Amino acid sequence: MSERMRFNTALLHGGNRSDAATGATMTPIYQSSAFEHGSAEKLAQIFHNTAPGFSYTRINNPTVASFEQRMAELEHGVAAVATASGMAAVFNAVMNLVRSGDEVIASASIYGGTIDLFRDLESYGITTRYVTEVTPEALAEAVTEKTRVVFAETIGNPKLNVLDIPAVAAYVHGRGLPLIVDNTVATPYLCRPLELGADIVVESTSKYINGSGNSISGLIADSGRFSWEEARYPDLAPYRRFGPMAYTAKLRNALFRDTGACLSPFNAYLNSIGLETLGLRMERACDNAMALAGWFETSGLVDAVSYPGLESAPGHALAQKQFGGRYGAMVTIRTGSRERAFGVIDRLRYALKVSNIGDSKTLVLHPESTIFCHESEEDARRAGVYPDTIRISVGIEDIEDLILDFEQALRGKESTYGRGGFCGA
Ligand SMILES: *Cc1c(COP(=O)(O)O)cnc(C)c1O
Repeated sequence: MSERMRFNTALLHGGNRSDAATGATMTPIYQSSAFEHGSAEKLAQIFHNTAPGFSYTRINNPTVASFEQRMAELEHGVAAVATASGMAAVFNAVMNLVRSGDEVIASASIYGGTIDLFRDLESYGITTRYVTEVTPEALAEAVTEKTRVVFAETIGNPKLNVLDIPAVAAYVHGRGLPLIVDNTVATPYLCRPLELGADIVVESTSKYINGSGNSISGLIADSGRFSWEEARYPDLAPYRRFGPMAYTAKLRNALFRDTGACLSPFNAYLNSIGLETLGLRMERACDNAMALAGWFETSGLVDAVSYPGLESAPGHALAQKQFGGRYGAMVTIRTGSRERAFGVIDRLRYALKVSNIGDSKTLVLHPESTIFCHESEEDARRAGVYPDTIRISVGIEDIEDLILDFEQALRGKESTYGRGGFCGA
């Protein structure tokens, strides 16, 4: 069987799903901090990477390793490292490559938490330059001799712009730089960035991979293809002997274990359950998002709707080419004013008012007053966030119910509370 498994088959049979020790059909929760071995010598070998095995859960754990292998298979990576959160994944993935004095180039329309992180890294001498859209043309102006990493999202959260991964990867490779892609919103269901030329994938598996919003977690997957030039990445030099595993070997043997950013076995287990239905959930959620976005567009009830599946979307042609016929499950709308946005959100019956995305249930958020509350107005605009923007993470409910609910919420009267009109009016 030389042919690669198709997506839904790989969700169920890819990587190391079962448990050789017991025959359990899914790797059980190995809720143990440390692992005992028969001799001091065996433990020494494990510590020196000369024998396989587990020593301490901060470094690795069988339940976590099973989740990592399944994800590496889905993202077409040579290896994957699971982390305690998506932010731990972004932090470790970038910091594995930079030192004080280095620069990162990032898309201005990335997740607000990542913008916060990049700002906080400035105290450590790592600066980030933002470009409105990551394109070869924009990069040609932004790359300097200090650049070490280019960072972007497959589908920007919440702007929903689409990254041209093959074009950007070709350009950055020509400049001797790696491309890190945050694949949280697209998920490997829509797109495998490593397959399209990216070098490292990060994602918040708290979202679609988990699918039920029951654990925070993240992932770093490595294509194993980038050759880390010694002059530019001196800290990677000792790991070059690991060949395609150089990046992951450095991560596992240095910063990842230093920061203690390990995923708990329990959360890895929950993610492994969620993972198996990713294809079915995404199929349904993307179809719902498409229908809802189409309905918004013709309803006359919103000022603007943004969804890569709409022909009117700037990234539509690229999304069509890159994502194989579906467009993700995130939609944003503009409602005319912040007050109206708040009113619409409050009137929704099904959608949960929460700050995450990627649950089976529909979720809504007013990004400007929440995940972008620490950003300047200019940064928020560049990320596609306006005072009247509502971000919708479309779930797998019956679409008829979702449309009816948004319709009543959008048609509803604004509350007159606070305007003096609620007394007998
Ligand atoms: C949520 C999110 C993150 C951060 O992940 P956590 O699991 O919340 O730490 C990073 N990137 C994107 C695109 C996200 O949506």
